[in-house]
Amino acid sequence: MTASMLTSRTIDQVDATHAAPATRHHAHASGTYRVSVRRVLTRPDARLAVPAVEIDPCHPYVVALADALVTTMQVSPACVGLAATQVGEPARIFCMDLTGHKRARSCAGLVVLCNPTIVWRSGDVIQREGCMSVPNLTGDVARASEVTVEGYEPGTNQLVRVNADAMEARCLQHEIDHLDGFVFVDRVRDPVKQLFARKIYK
Ligand SMILES: [Zn+2]
Repeated sequence: MTASMLTSRTIDQVDATHAAPATRHHAHASGTYRVSVRRVLTRPDARLAVPAVEIDPCHPYVVALADALVTTMQVSPACVGLAATQVGEPARIFCMDLTGHKRARSCAGLVVLCNPTIVWRSGDVIQREGCMSVPNLTGDVARASEVTVEGYEPGTNQLVRVNADAMEARCLQHEIDHLDGFVFVDRVRDPVKQLFARKIYK
């Protein structure tokens, strides 16, 4: 699967970074790397409202955080995106993977972007969305139906451009909102009519 391929590539990058003398002082003392699943914060944790700061995509800490985000997303049922803000790290990085999702049209596979920006948007569509940080609710949220997002790949600092529509466009806007300190509930225009109780994914 694309997802696991990219995960192992990320781990290789971490290992390579730890081996490089120039950056050795950034590495943990043992020089070993452990894949970690992070706890996802839920509302009303105040850290979810803190805007994240721009980061160096090649910093070993950022590469390790990228891997932790992907791992946490992949082990979480029904999770298609996760932002660093949600694991208590105020850093502008998120991951997303709509592979196999029934509401997806465009699908870029596993995407991990640092310092993402929406460079183009079009349309306006209201659809139901949910979030691991808001486990008890779903909501109808208006978002652009198509977006182009640019960001930088962790570990390489390569510019990545994603043209997305439908569910993938929604997911990108949702994750970038997290980095700005917003959850979807903040985007619901009429909380009485547009918020709904949901079942909790275990
Ligand atoms: Zn979310």
